[in-house]
Amino acid sequence: MYDLLIKNAVIITADPSHHIYDKGYIAVKDGRIAAIGPLEELSESAQAERVLDAGGKCLMPGLVDGHGHAGHCLTKTMGESNDTQFEGAWWGKMAEDIYFHYTDDFFWYAEGALAAAERLKFGITTGVSMLGSTPRPDRVENLEAHFEGALKTGLRQVSGIGSCDGPWPKHPWVWEGDSHKEHTLTPEQMVETTERAVKELNGKHPRQICIVAPGSIGYNPLAETKDFAVWKNKEMYRIAKEYGSPLHTHLYGGGVQFVYDTTPELLNPTTSLTHSTGLSQREIEIFAETGAVLFHGPTTRANIKKRCPVYEVLRAGGNVAIVTDGTAPDRSYDIWRDMKVFQVLHRAHDNDPLLAPVGMVLEMCTIIPARALGLDRDIGSLEVGKKADMIIINTRQPHLAPFGIMPLHRVVYHAQGQDVETVIVDGQVMMENRKMLLCDEERILSDAEKAFDRMRQRLGSKFESFVKYGDVYAIRNQTMPDPYKA
Ligand SMILES: [Zn+2]
Repeated sequence: MYDLLIKNAVIITADPSHHIYDKGYIAVKDGRIAAIGPLEELSESAQAERVLDAGGKCLMPGLVDGHGHAGHCLTKTMGESNDTQFEGAWWGKMAEDIYFHYTDDFFWYAEGALAAAERLKFGITTGVSMLGSTPRPDRVENLEAHFEGALKTGLRQVSGIGSCDGPWPKHPWVWEGDSHKEHTLTPEQMVETTERAVKELNGKHPRQICIVAPGSIGYNPLAETKDFAVWKNKEMYRIAKEYGSPLHTHLYGGGVQFVYDTTPELLNPTTSLTHSTGLSQREIEIFAETGAVLFHGPTTRANIKKRCPVYEVLRAGGNVAIVTDGTAPDRSYDIWRDMKVFQVLHRAHDNDPLLAPVGMVLEMCTIIPARALGLDRDIGSLEVGKKADMIIINTRQPHLAPFGIMPLHRVVYHAQGQDVETVIVDGQVMMENRKMLLCDEERILSDAEKAFDRMRQRLGSKFESFVKYGDVYAIRNQTMPDPYKA
């Protein structure tokens, strides 16, 4: 007796043989896929606790979003300056200021739930989040609260903290009610908290995966010495190795070479580097040589100023995943959108409309990030023995009909987040007919409003400068004055 049996769906497996069943079935037992195949191979005596008829709809693996920032759902659209955070813009400063000084456990809890709900409703079943913009690594409790919120929704949550940007020491605030206490955070304490988080939080819940996630492992000569950067990176590697954790971080052109020259052990197939714009030819080769995986966010701002040479990395033999970098200031967790932007961006650059074919794009949002996170034995494709993380797309809609011919093309080119009708994680139906079953969606929304209001109150008059914007009807919006320069 199976727990769940889904019949009649068009099934895209994303397995190594790229099986697609025009009319297939999938059977789930104890949270894992017990059988999958064409409908005619389903035994007549097969029985299940629950049978779902997905006639005419499309069933596929749950999507894996390899990069996002916990906190961003409550700061999105704010700090709208026109430059990227790398060239004098203050969005990054605002985000760090808010996350280090104006948040409490409830903020991280409510944002965790909101972000996970957004991801789940877009068909993402596994999501990676770095806590903060550059991570806030002074308290394990913040991360714990974030996990608690996220897990309510049914998402498989992969989150972490790690080294953050200087200057040192840092002075984060801890809020209790309406008052806060400032404390001092040293680099040694940052390492200690990162280690404690992985040790105490990883695996605490079957869907809770705590990883090492430093803000960057590059070298910023304006904020630190070279020796300090190397020490920090070695510590991050030590923790990752000791606890068998993948390492996930931002790393850009110049930084890849720096890490290769100073701590090459950090670059391996369970290291994921986002967004890696501005790579040199040598750095492109380093991706292929070391197996480190490039987590490319096609809709991130980093990508606007400097190009990420995705196809050069692929042609050199490297691996690339597509990530959302959700959600602030201007992106969502709708990874379907990123699939399409990815295609257009790289097709336009190479003047080749057949570049980035749909199957490859789907793998970049499923099995490739799963592998980089060390989770590919369990998730990333629909195969017997794997965890039953899967989604059903409602294809009975004008923009997807008639469905059946070239299903992989139809979903990658035409589907979007809101077309995901059913989400199953660990064999459990977490969303059905777009209604979340494990949690109260209204409550998640009202908690998010409450957390936002509290943040706003704490920010006081500062808040106004964060929501100012220029002439948004002009050809180009003016750059808003940097409140941190005053
Ligand atoms: Zn990021």
